[in-house]
Amino acid sequence: MTTAKTREIQLVSRPVGEPRPEDFSLVETETPALAPGQILVRNTWMSVDPYMRGRMDEGTSLILPAFELGAPLNGAAVGDVIESRADGVPIGATVVHFLGWREHAVLDAAEATVIDTSLAPAPTYLGPLGTTGLTAYAALTDITPVREGDVVFVSAAAGAVGSVAGQLARKLGAAKVIGSAGGTDKARHLVDAFGYDIGLDYRAEPLAEQLAKAAPDGIDLYVDNVGGDHLEAALEALRPGGRAVLIGAISGYNATDPIPGPANLFRIVERRLTLRGIQVSEYLGLFPEFIGRAAGWLADGSLRAEETVVDGIEQAPAALIGVLRGANTGKMLVRLD
Ligand code: NAP
Repeated sequence: MTTAKTREIQLVSRPVGEPRPEDFSLVETETPALAPGQILVRNTWMSVDPYMRGRMDEGTSLILPAFELGAPLNGAAVGDVIESRADGVPIGATVVHFLGWREHAVLDAAEATVIDTSLAPAPTYLGPLGTTGLTAYAALTDITPVREGDVVFVSAAAGAVGSVAGQLARKLGAAKVIGSAGGTDKARHLVDAFGYDIGLDYRAEPLAEQLAKAAPDGIDLYVDNVGGDHLEAALEALRPGGRAVLIGAISGYNATDPIPGPANLFRIVERRLTLRGIQVSEYLGLFPEFIGRAAGWLADGSLRAEETVVDGIEQAPAALIGVLRGANTGKMLVRLD
């Protein structure tokens, strides 16, 4: 077994506010020799996720440790096994694992999951069949289950989690599904591509006013990917006994000052609202059930999956900056082959 030259994206400085290309560096390095039980994976697709922004800050992410300066970033990736010293994971297997942001990864086979690419293409396991799809599924089946006849509002509704959440809400019995996204094209796409009843462009007019018009009798369930003004607008629109699942708060990820909370939190008391957070890491055991159902929906066309793809590892920093700005529709991915 030999070592081989490869490239990885390292973090070289911690951003203040929005990350800049200079915060990253593309570094040539060598893969280490395999120890017993390890595999060498040629990564083919890498996931680009908003939560990575929190890991660029010093020790502030409560979810995963901060990225180290002068070391490669990491995150979900899929790739092909090109060398193996592990029983059960042969050369040629396609695996999903967590050593992305590099062209090749050496890892213990126990940290990789072999995926079935006859069920769905490999990149789908980073989007609708990956943790983003699972987040939407766990949110709407376990954290705040959709009830028959619900009026549901989803923010960041054209993104990876949001586009699946809007479609699942409908499948699970919602009577009306409203989404918000940035820009007229994306708002229209919510209706045309993802089956939302109404698409709101939050950049066009104040969101609370648009939501009041879209749901004059209020909403029953809010799927929050954005926080900030979106959460405030949803609290105003939720009916008595309404529920919200708090998935993310991307409107504040690049903030340099403390973010004020919604001014109307007392609505929770007045209207007996339930707000629950979710961490998808607690739902990984749901993957077999979820993949079993969602692969069928993808195959029969009743779940639409979109991707925004950039090519080449050198484009990965721009993709991360882009996902925080709304450059994507559906799942943001970097293709390496
Ligand atoms: P995504 O929605 O595919 O991409 C992020 C989107 O956020 C952008 O495309 C942009 O869309 C929108 N956005 C950015 N800044 C905004 C702002 N100031 N106001 C409103 N929208 C803004 O990303 P994702 O991977 O699916 O993640 C969505 C959310 O879920 C994130 O908050 C993420 O951290 C969270 N998440 C949480 C978990 C968990 O376990 N709790 C798991 C996965 C993801 P527009 O063009 O529409 O603005």
